Order: sequence, then C-alpha cells, then structure tokens
Amino acid sequence: SYPSLATRTAVVTGAASGMGAATARLLAAGGARVALLARRTDRLDALAAELTAAGGQALAVTADITDQSSVDAAAKAVHDAYGLVDLVVNNAGVMLPNPLAEGRLDEWTRMIDTNLTGALRVIRAFTPDLAAAAVDGRTADLVNVSSIASHVLFPDYAVYGATKSALTQLSAALRTELGPRDVRVSTIEPGLTDTELGGHIDNTELRGQLDGMFTTIPALTAEDIADLIAYTVSRRRQVNLRQSIVLPTRQA
Ligand code: NDP
Repeated sequence: SYPSLATRTAVVTGAASGMGAATARLLAAGGARVALLARRTDRLDALAAELTAAGGQALAVTADITDQSSVDAAAKAVHDAYGLVDLVVNNAGVMLPNPLAEGRLDEWTRMIDTNLTGALRVIRAFTPDLAAAAVDGRTADLVNVSSIASHVLFPDYAVYGATKSALTQLSAALRTELGPRDVRVSTIEPGLTDTELGGHIDNTELRGQLDGMFTTIPALTAEDIADLIAYTVSRRRQVNLRQSIVLPTRQA
C-alpha cells in the first residue's frame, strides 16, 4: 500500500522560503507533522501559523545549520514536540557565484558549511531517528536537495557546483549504508526554479545574468519541487526513487 503522509513526522530545512516552504505546505496539507527549520524566525512563525490555521500540524524551530549547537538544540525541540522523525528534507542551501579569481573565501566557506557540512549536521542529528522509525516498520526517508549544477558546468558557479556534486555523491553513498536498514535516500536535482536563492548574489553582472535566465526560460516553481518530493516519499516503502533531475522544459 502507498504510505500516507498523514502518519509522517517531517523535518524540512530551509523552510523559511522557496522549495522548503512549499514542501512543508504540501506535507502538512497531506496530514504530516512538520518541523520547520531555518534562521528567520518571523518567516517560520508565519508559516507555522498559516499551516495550523489550515488544520495542519507545524512547529517553527529557528536553526542555523552552520552552527552545531543550534542544530543540537533544534533536534531536541523537534524530539520534545514530536518524538521520532521519519522524513527529513535536507533542503537549506545558499548559492553565491563569483569568478574563482575573486578569491572569495568568505563565500566558499559559507556555501561549503551550509550546502555540505550543514546537510551533514542535519543527517547526523536525524539519521538515528530514521533508522529507529524503519525498525518500527515505518516508512523512513532522507531527501537531499542537490542541483543540476552537480552535473552541468555553469561558469563562475564552480564552488556552488562543487558543493552540490559533493552532496549528490554523499547522498548516493549514504544509500549504501541506509538502504539495507530500510531508510530510503533520495536526491532531488532541480534546474531553474523561482525562489529567493538568487537574492544573495553580490556580483551585479552574475545577478543580471541569472535574472536574464528567468526572462527567457519559464522557470519551475517551488511547488513543482514540493510535488516531486511528496511523490518520492509516498511510494511503497520498498520503492526508492533515488535520483531525480527536474528541469524547466526550455532549460538545455
Ligand atoms: P531559498 O533561498 O528560497 O531557500 C533557501 C532556504 O535555506 C531559506 O529558507 C533559508 O532560510 C535557508 N537557509 C539558508 N542558510 C541556512 C542556514 N545556515 N541554516 C538554516 N537554513 C538556512 O532558495 P531555494 O528554495 O531555491 O533553495 C532550496 C534548495 O534548492 C537549496 O539547497 C538550493 O541550492 C537548491 N536549488 C535551487 C535551485 C533554484 O533554481 N532555485 C536549483 C537547484 C537547486 P533562512 O535564510 O531563514 O535561514
């Protein structure tokens, strides 16, 4: 039988905006209890209030995944409220392109610490839950949001691409450890999607280039990605849709 979202207890990182917020909305609409993690408390509180008003169950948990003590505190808050987690959507990320010659160690550090080490901190915090949930016979999922940039080269996005290639590789490798324990690991690799991601680019030319892509290609919406994630986690528990590339039709 197809697992119902109504029985699930989820953690969604990067739930303050974009794909994470859309995924949290869809999971909550399906009846899942959803813990919302990100740094912007006001956004999380507003989303939790919205989901609760719509009859769902949501918990706002302010957390910075680059900070181990913050992740530890978040895990405790989630466990206190909901107990074991059986669905983790590792979605928080930052994209800060610049030519390598700029030598932006600050941006490199932030991307690596968020997109890779941050994802690992979340995996470390909740993998024991996923394994225990699977032992209890529950469907258990770890969903990692990587990018088409893990496969395709975009000039001046080298370090972002490197973090996403690393996340895709990590996700595939983890599957060999967790699959035999009945925990599914899935990698989602979106193309151009209309979210706040480009808002942090401080290189004016590259910001303009990205804006230009949105005017020439009808982009995916955050809801399109949420739809794919919800589909992936609602297959029979023996079925692992392990890697999905999803692009706007016009994106080459
Ligand atoms: P958004 O910028 O809208 O969402 C990113 C989320 O991550 C925000 O909610 C942000 O919240 C959160 N976040 C960032 N840093 C941290 C941190 N240190 N701790 C906790 N949360 C953090 O963009 P998207 O929805 O597009 O991004 C979601 C994922 O999708 C990212 O991993 C991105 O790389 C990936 N992606 C996006 C594509 C696109 O075209 N948009 C294409 C391919 C992949 P806050 O600032 O409040 O912490």
